[in-house]
Amino acid sequence: MFNSYLEEIKTYEAGKPIELVVREFGIEAKDVVKLASNENPYGCSPRVIEAIQKGASRASLYPDDSMYELKAALSDRFGVGSENIIIGAGSDQVLEFISHVKLHQNAKILRSAVSFAMYDIYAKQFGAKIVTTPSYEHKVDEFQKKIESEHPDIIYICTPNNPTGDATKREDIFAIIDAAPKESLVVIDGAYMEYVESDHFRVTPKEILEFKNVVYLGTFSKAFGLGGMRIGYGIAHKDIIDVLYKVRPPFNITTLSLLAAIEASKDFDFVKMSVAKNREEMLRYEKFAKEYALEYIPSQTNFITYLFDASYNSSTIATNLMKQGVIIRDLASYGLNAVRITIGRPEQNSRLFEVLKREIE
Ligand code: PMP
Repeated sequence: MFNSYLEEIKTYEAGKPIELVVREFGIEAKDVVKLASNENPYGCSPRVIEAIQKGASRASLYPDDSMYELKAALSDRFGVGSENIIIGAGSDQVLEFISHVKLHQNAKILRSAVSFAMYDIYAKQFGAKIVTTPSYEHKVDEFQKKIESEHPDIIYICTPNNPTGDATKREDIFAIIDAAPKESLVVIDGAYMEYVESDHFRVTPKEILEFKNVVYLGTFSKAFGLGGMRIGYGIAHKDIIDVLYKVRPPFNITTLSLLAAIEASKDFDFVKMSVAKNREEMLRYEKFAKEYALEYIPSQTNFITYLFDASYNSSTIATNLMKQGVIIRDLASYGLNAVRITIGRPEQNSRLFEVLKREIE
């Protein structure tokens, strides 16, 4: 009755909500520590909250569909033109637009061995084939080989990569772009780019404008702390943006989300504070891993991946932690005996260490 290729899709498993732990384990919401969805543990800028409160009565009005002010803010920040920007309900929606304009039953996507789950879900919605490199890191030679043999329609470079947390060197990103034929669209997913510590790993949206087959994706969900408002963006050469606009539904961003993103753009100090605190707390996660001889992937993001040896089972550990009110992300569905933990506030991290210690001691 439905498209047969939808049978291949395993519905996206979002991080477990606090409400579920409250319901199933009778733990009070205030005692639940959620470190599963890479949200900003410091919330969002107070200016944003004030703007949403003040703007609440505008809920009855459709938003400015040109998104003039938000595009102007992004133009200023990145030094690109408004015509180079498309806004989505989360960068997820921009991924969906990209899939609409590139994918079909004979199309292919290329990604690293372990990368963001939505790339596959969108590919499968169009019956497209998923091609992966052998490594989870974005290795230039592996990408070159697969590009040559498979001619993918979309090439994903997720940097920093979710769920592994590692970032790809600038020169490697540009080498992969160089290897891509002009018919392939290269997507640089920079959802976590604000957290990158070294310029060595940073690419800016402006740098990719000269390419007519590259899109840069960014989001307000992570460092800006607006996961609940659903705002992301794609930046690319105008020719690409014009095509993406053909598949965008009208009013795809809510009036209050637009207000929130515009206001958040004015408070970069909040982002700086979030990134600085994240780094301090990341050191504690590295120290913990060393102390308990846990293997981890050095992270450039707001989360860290701990890899377990065969004496532990990541699903059991994640479930046991959840029963104690600490939610982390099991990576078994990615084929890894590992967990991904969002770096929280100091006290949340202390609680995580306390419960995880008991599991692995
Ligand atoms: N890309 C990556 C790599 C992500 O991890 C996420 C969120 N988990 C997204 C895109 C989508 O984020 P959003 O839709 O909230 O912008």
